[in-house]
Amino acid sequence: MTYLAVSICGQDISDFEARFQPALTAGAEMLELRLDCLAEPNTEAVTKITSAARRFQLPLIATCRDGAQGGQGNWNLKHRTQILVAAIEAGADFVDCEFSNFTHPATRQILLDALHRNPRCRLILSAHDFDKPFDDIELLYESIISFCPQAIPKLVYTARHINDCFAAFDLLHNKEQDAIVFSMGAMGQVSRILAKKLGSFLTFAALDEQQASAPGQVPIAQMKGLYRWDTINAETEIFGILGDPVGHSLSPAIHNAGFAKDAINAIYLPFWVQNDKAGFDGFMEHVLGRPWMGFRGFSVTIPHKTDALNFAGTKGDYVEPLAATIGAVNTLKVGFNSLVSAFNTDYAGAMDALTHTLGIDRHQLHRRKVAVIGAGGAARAVVAGLVDAGAEVTVYNRTHAKGQTLADEFRCRYARLDSLDELQADIVVNCTSIGMSPHVDATPLSAKFFTSDMAAFDTIYTPLKTRFLHEAAAAGAKCVNGAEMFIRQAMAQYRIFTGHKPDEKTIRKVVFDKLEAR
Ligand code: NAP
Repeated sequence: MTYLAVSICGQDISDFEARFQPALTAGAEMLELRLDCLAEPNTEAVTKITSAARRFQLPLIATCRDGAQGGQGNWNLKHRTQILVAAIEAGADFVDCEFSNFTHPATRQILLDALHRNPRCRLILSAHDFDKPFDDIELLYESIISFCPQAIPKLVYTARHINDCFAAFDLLHNKEQDAIVFSMGAMGQVSRILAKKLGSFLTFAALDEQQASAPGQVPIAQMKGLYRWDTINAETEIFGILGDPVGHSLSPAIHNAGFAKDAINAIYLPFWVQNDKAGFDGFMEHVLGRPWMGFRGFSVTIPHKTDALNFAGTKGDYVEPLAATIGAVNTLKVGFNSLVSAFNTDYAGAMDALTHTLGIDRHQLHRRKVAVIGAGGAARAVVAGLVDAGAEVTVYNRTHAKGQTLADEFRCRYARLDSLDELQADIVVNCTSIGMSPHVDATPLSAKFFTSDMAAFDTIYTPLKTRFLHEAAAAGAKCVNGAEMFIRQAMAQYRIFTGHKPDEKTIRKVVFDKLEAR
């Protein structure tokens, strides 16, 4: 079992007491009493807090963290040891002492005596590095268990890159006794969630975003809801989004909701892979080198769409031909043979959004005149899909060279942005960020060009209805919004990941709830 522990930090007894019930209600499976947070830690207060917490019948950890290892206040070791002893005597189930402090003979003897008098209480020996990974985490782990075999080692360090998390995963995989191992910080956050799959003795969640007691702690509501804590086990398969940044992504909400609806034993996580090809390649090598972890697939976003294509090109199994033509991949599937297949569902999402709204099949785009405004990543996917379907595309772009290059690559026309005045098209697609929130008054095309026999497609999805679409709708044009493209690319991706068509209602609800809340 991996306990989901909530750390409770309070300045006084009433602060602590006010947080026990909310933690229990939110689903805490264990409480950590961070006694170092007390404005004036003393044995009387600690006895009262511990006794009050016991009434909630959750296992209790007593911690009075050293200031040098992330603790509050600067209480000396002797005082902190007395605080821990008071908590043990008052019924704490676990007591957490820093390993470096436990090696002091006096501290060790006092704690061992108290534990001897209270044999139900177990010792956690912890080590923290708030700056970086440990130089040799395996050696540190061995040192702790050889020094005190009955203790539960707790090894926690800051991940400076997502790839730093793999040392924690390996240690959990190889351990032969109870241990607590994870990484801190935004890049280490996934290790706090995967701790359950990998059998860490516990992981910590925050009561809410304001009350995180260490960097990267996930709020318990998110742990239980978004990441489906209760369903995670050793067989849970891992999916996620690779990008820099990934915090804003809707994909975890979409795919986790799909897994929940289809009762698939899988989890989808945000993997913040910093902006370099070496980091991306390193991450994928770590993934492929650990088949026991059960990584099964990834969404890929900026800036790694080309890195993903190149990786799949050299280490892959299959690259979707149109993805290779586009030069970007947004979906990687990891096979049981540790080979990756690469796809681009952005173009498929765009084509599905367009054809579905117009009520036509892809081949009915043949010979349709389409104006694509923009020549960036979204435009590449849209142009590739349209040209593949036989549409007559003209690319309009602010930067001449980029527009011309894109048009040349896909053998279509290029025209300058200011020649939009002469626009004659059945369909016009905005692939620029003009009109995106917060610049909602901007539009790439004057309202006078829209007619009732046209279709207008804006790839922007914040806001859901841009000025471009408002004006197109006012002229009677058929409108396609960016959310439709986004939903359909996600559905195509889910199908690649799982082999199942996702429940469209579930995906739509997640996307619209999230977008409307923004
Ligand atoms: P990108 O690669 O940075 O390209 C941006 C494009 O917009 C370029 O062609 C750029 O022209 C043009 N542009 C930007 N500001 C402009 C301005 N003030 N005046 C004229 N042209 C301007 O970005 P991207 O990834 O293609 O994204 C473009 C849009 O697509 C974004 O709004 C994004 O939200 C949307 N998108 C939607 C989805 C979806 O699923 N719905 C997926 C991907 C992207 P220059 O070449 O002259 O710089």
